[in-house]
Amino acid sequence: MKNYSIAIVGAGPAGYFAAQALQNLQTDDLKFQIDMIEKLPTPWGLVRSGVAPDHPKIKTVSKVFEKIATSEGFQLFCNVELGKDIKTEELTEIYDAVVIATGSDKGKKLGIPGENLRGSLSAAEFVPWYNAHPDYVNVDVPLDTDTAIVIGAGNVAMDVGRMLALEPKVLDPTDTATHALEKLHESKIRTVHLFGRRGPEHAAFTAPELRELPKLEHTDVEIGECDIEDAIKRAEALGEVPKDVRSNLDAMMSVAKTPKAGHERNLNFHFLASPIEIKGKDRVEEVVFAVNKIENGKVFQTDDRYSVKAGLIISAIGYESEPIPGVPYENGKVVNSEGRVANSNIYVVGWAKRGPSGVIGTNKSDAASVMDHLKADLRTPKNNEGITKLLKDRGVIHISQSNWEALNSAEVSAGTQSGKPRIKFTDRKEMLGFAG
Ligand code: NAP
Repeated sequence: MKNYSIAIVGAGPAGYFAAQALQNLQTDDLKFQIDMIEKLPTPWGLVRSGVAPDHPKIKTVSKVFEKIATSEGFQLFCNVELGKDIKTEELTEIYDAVVIATGSDKGKKLGIPGENLRGSLSAAEFVPWYNAHPDYVNVDVPLDTDTAIVIGAGNVAMDVGRMLALEPKVLDPTDTATHALEKLHESKIRTVHLFGRRGPEHAAFTAPELRELPKLEHTDVEIGECDIEDAIKRAEALGEVPKDVRSNLDAMMSVAKTPKAGHERNLNFHFLASPIEIKGKDRVEEVVFAVNKIENGKVFQTDDRYSVKAGLIISAIGYESEPIPGVPYENGKVVNSEGRVANSNIYVVGWAKRGPSGVIGTNKSDAASVMDHLKADLRTPKNNEGITKLLKDRGVIHISQSNWEALNSAEVSAGTQSGKPRIKFTDRKEMLGFAG
């Protein structure tokens, strides 16, 4: 019987699916001790701090994570930061293999003048702010303006636009961060404009998310019918329209055709416009856009300009991974070949491997294929004792699975009293206390 010990760094979907893949590879002769290390006091990664609070169904995948975590041979080490509490070289020495599953949490920048003004922020700050990430509680989100602009035509932009445009009472029975919910209730925003730089046929939204938009009870969603008709013509002129593009265009057309109820709150989709400057004295006041056009499927910027007055602009144009000391890094990702990091016993899964693409479920097959490589590369087991003693000697307080279960129950019972699935704690000390 061979017993291998594997460290997985990052307790998000990619990390849990890597653990699940390893568990599935076990036989009577092959066992894995899996130690999952996470810098936050809580696990679940984007399921906790990324998924929009009005999408509770997506979060039910956490039940799968808890099943993985309570299987034999799994240990959780939350509140332990790689690079601070423990070094990559130490993990590669102790464990038979190290799996990096740290995701991408740095928002890409627009790189235009005025981007540093107050009222200009990235979805990489706004999303964890409304999701109670302990490091983003104090993000300055000025909502004292009637108009907000969201840049990007992906699902994150849609989440951000929806969160700004919906009636906040819809969020009362959700796990939205308490500090964010209070501010959203006071928000003066009534109009949200979302801008894609290419056409509707190029949008990165997915159809199920688009199809939900007309169900917003207190918000009118505007998509120009002509924009979609033009996009369909352009897409068809290039040959057979791919299934996902067709389905997206159909969903956008259905939103466009939905009668508007005349709500005060509205979310408006615009295409073929790139922000080129953010204007304002002390904070965002206006955004200047360049008009783009499409010729033979290619997008060009024209000399036409227009501006939109707004006090808030949030860019949702993709993410990059933070470099990890001791792990090769390039173009916002860990340098890897099919998840293998050259000349090491390091592997990478999820967004840190392939960039910020795909839905939560995408990580399942992705992690499974990398764990097949890991298994194929295994040699003589190291039979090491893991990191518990090392952390104790360093005075690092880690949150184990049972500590997390205590913290989780405390959040859930705090929520039950207010008719919410949970109230997320944000203060690290308080979290350690509840974790026991
Ligand atoms: P994304 O899907 O890659 O979309 C990024 C958007 O930003 C694209 O429209 C892109 O336009 C645009 N963009 C990039 N650079 C730009 C620039 N300089 N100026 C203007 N626009 C720019 O990324 P995401 O929205 O961050 O989502 C990441 C992943 O998470 C995606 O796979 C997404 O589906 C997933 N996700 C899923 C859900 C869900 O299932 N409910 C929710 C949230 C996120 P171009 O196409 O022109 O580059």
